[in-house]
Amino acid sequence: MDISALLPTDRSRGTRPVLIHAPEGTLCPVTELPDERNDRPLGLFRRLLRSGQAPRSPQTCEHLRAAPNSVEPSTPGRCADHRPGDGPWVHLRVCLSCGHVGCCDSSPQRHATGHHQATGHPAMQSHEPGEDWRWCYVDELLG
Ligand SMILES: [Zn+2]
Ligand SMILES: [Zn+2]
Ligand SMILES: [Zn+2]
Repeated sequence: MDISALLPTDRSRGTRPVLIHAPEGTLCPVTELPDERNDRPLGLFRRLLRSGQAPRSPQTCEHLRAAPNSVEPSTPGRCADHRPGDGPWVHLRVCLSCGHVGCCDSSPQRHATGHHQATGHPAMQSHEPGEDWRWCYVDELLG
């Protein structure tokens, strides 16, 4: 069967899933797509998706409990910190404390993580169409 049909693809950019050859020579769906290799929350979110689950808000994380379910992005659809020459970003994240939009950890500049480090704002949300998962930088939890 065509297992590629079972894997999520990035609809907006047409990313193809990567297949890895298992030792026996059979193809197995991989746990990782190129855009999630450096992006821990996205990797965790996709893993949940693949296993048919949705992220649940962790009761142990005060930040996600306190954060809103969504926030008005200050620069919808673009990274607020990107400067000419920074190159393309892969995905966008929005800060749940202030609405700052920054690029993800698969993007060369990692502006969303940079914003957390500069401000201490603990939680962000995916700013990608069709995704609403949230991430706590402090506790490294999805929810
Ligand atoms: Zn937390
Ligand atoms: Zn950026
Ligand atoms: Zn912020």
